[in-house]
Amino acid sequence: MAVPASQMTPEMLELLKVLTRPDAAEEKVYHGFFPAEDVESCLDVPLDSLKFRLQTDCPLCQRKSHHLRWIRYSSPSSAWERGAGVAGALSLCDHCGIQVQFIATQA
Ligand SMILES: [Zn+2]
Repeated sequence: MAVPASQMTPEMLELLKVLTRPDAAEEKVYHGFFPAEDVESCLDVPLDSLKFRLQTDCPLCQRKSHHLRWIRYSSPSSAWERGAGVAGALSLCDHCGIQVQFIATQA
């Protein structure tokens, strides 16, 4: 059902502005064990989620592990330099905006 802009309430117009903001999709933030900005810089290294069947489902929406977004996570170089770097597979729930599970491959 389409509502003409002239008949929209101020609240509807405000919501429309938020939903149609061009950068809305870029603002995805995943909260969890790693700093959100560190996770964000790893989003361009996706992993095949089908390889992670039977891992942890999203605790909030129960989305199955292989339906989550899996990426290869690696600590920022500053962490590696002080001997605190970790790397491995990290699952993210796009629906809930959280980090669900981390499987370390190197310490
Ligand atoms: Zn979820």
